Order: sequence, then C-alpha cells, then structure tokens
Amino acid sequence: MGKESTCKNFKNQQKQELPELLLEERWSIDIPPVIPQLTKHRIVGKYCSCGCLAKGQAPSHVKGFVSYGSHLKATVISNR
Ligand SMILES: [Zn+2]
Repeated sequence: MGKESTCKNFKNQQKQELPELLLEERWSIDIPPVIPQLTKHRIVGKYCSCGCLAKGQAPSHVKGFVSYGSHLKATVISNR
C-alpha cells in the first residue's frame, strides 16, 4: 500500500480520470427524537344533596401534579 497523498498537484488534476478505491466503511446509528406525550387528567367533584363534596379520582399511576409514565421511567433507568 502506498503512502497517503500529500501531493500538492492532486487538486489540479482531472479527478474523473483517476481510479477510485473503497478504503473504509463507517456507520452511524441513532434513534429518532423522543416526543413526550402529555395527558391531562381532570379531577372533578359534585355536591351531593346533603352538601358533601364527592371528589373524583385520578388513575392510580397519576399520583401528584406531575407524574412520570412507565415508558419514561424505563427509558431513564436504562440510560443510567
Ligand atoms: Zn352527601
């Protein structure tokens, strides 16, 4: 194998006439950007005829003002 060209004349030559060699292959791999999905859970209440307030419930996995879903938790854990 010859040495890599540092020839100052290369840029002035007719490149179409020179043979081309495959020297190396390089790959890159990536994943598409993650787009967060937000779901708003609205908890409503109704007053009973006796005046007490009956309050609805959020799904059991929605524990606070903001909760993280199982897919997001799994992604964070697997990237530690
Ligand atoms: Zn009541």
